[in-house]
Amino acid sequence: MLYQRSSALFEEAYRYIPGGVNSPVRAFKSVGGVPLFMKSAKGAYLTDEDDRTYIDYINSWGPAILGHTHPEVLEAIQKQAEKGFSFGTPTELETEIAKYIVENVPNIDQVRMVSSGTEACMSAIRLARGFTGREKIIKFEGCYHGHSDSFLIQAGSGMATFGSPNSPGVTQGTAKDTLLAEYNNFEQVEDLFKNNPEQIAAIIVEPIAGNMGCILPENNFLQNLRKICDENGAILIFDEVMTGFRLAFGGAQERLNVKADLVTFGKVIGGGLPVGAFAGRNEIMNQLSPRGNVYQAGTLSGNPLAMRAGLKTLQLIKEDPDFYNKLDKTTETLDFEIGKILNEKGIRHRINRKGSMMSIFFDVTSVSNFKEVNNSNIGLFNNLFHQVLEQGIYLPPSGYETWFISSAIGYAEIDKTLEAFRNFEY
Ligand SMILES: *Cc1c(COP(=O)(O)O)cnc(C)c1O
Repeated sequence: MLYQRSSALFEEAYRYIPGGVNSPVRAFKSVGGVPLFMKSAKGAYLTDEDDRTYIDYINSWGPAILGHTHPEVLEAIQKQAEKGFSFGTPTELETEIAKYIVENVPNIDQVRMVSSGTEACMSAIRLARGFTGREKIIKFEGCYHGHSDSFLIQAGSGMATFGSPNSPGVTQGTAKDTLLAEYNNFEQVEDLFKNNPEQIAAIIVEPIAGNMGCILPENNFLQNLRKICDENGAILIFDEVMTGFRLAFGGAQERLNVKADLVTFGKVIGGGLPVGAFAGRNEIMNQLSPRGNVYQAGTLSGNPLAMRAGLKTLQLIKEDPDFYNKLDKTTETLDFEIGKILNEKGIRHRINRKGSMMSIFFDVTSVSNFKEVNNSNIGLFNNLFHQVLEQGIYLPPSGYETWFISSAIGYAEIDKTLEAFRNFEY
């Protein structure tokens, strides 16, 4: 059996950890089969407990943009560890990384560090509510902003009504303050503002959506959100947990040239350690505790090991002026060549791509919102997933996820990947 040790480990894990995993998508529920247990990673490759290696297109769901275990990041963490793991006091390093981020990301004056993307988004909407004195927020179907209560809301009966929770444990009271619209549907956003005058604190959006597969904003969607927020005194929050330092150093704000009021970060900003952050201009950020009244805190926020890993990762990216161009090229090549192979096989598909994010949808010609993702042939993706996995290609274990390309993926890896796609039988 190919995945013998992983199977045994999963069985054991299942007894002691709910569902055998510490984050649901790892469980392979979407694609079926047993999740692979990894034991090490280096550069473009993962090694599982059965000693099989894989070219990694998840990269820890985004953080490993330099590939795994980059030697300079490793050294930075090791050196920091010798000085201490955590002090619970301010450190110079926190100012160093904050300054670095403020100087290199557009439209922000201050940044607050947290330990996950979830915390960053949760804190950003609290701040937006505190700042505006309003309670409602707008989010889009299929966008993910972490697992805090306000965001686990699905469209109930049409978008003009209140959302209903889509996880037990989220209260109706919380759900009623989260309004939903379809991604790329600006008319629905206009209606929400019309029907909830002076009540909407913020719109939160993934500027390139990556949690329903990769979906691009269309028809000036983001520019229109900017405009309607300005007209109504609402805060525009870009959730750049995925896109920050991935699409460009200044994230989607820079790449798409749209200005947000608050920006959230995670993933790449921690270089593989648990980090999140949220940032904005002084006027808003000054409302945060202890300077202002909006409370937010964290025992391990700004943790020195995490800050060191994050800062080193950002510096290594910044050092190479061609970094993002090269990532784009790799991804473009994959897109183009995989597209060619699928066309030759007569498999109808759509590849969405921006920068080093991409995903493939089967049996559809365009995909611009969550409904259209649901209309794609997820079964065919699952089939593909298992066939290429056996050949050493590790795609995200769900047709609803984005692939993340790292700078460690070179031509050898691309060739091997394309070979696996050529062998795809459906
Ligand atoms: C991953 C992700 C989050 C949540 O971050 P965690 O670190 O998993 O809590 C929030 N928003 C977006 C866009 C993400 O991709």
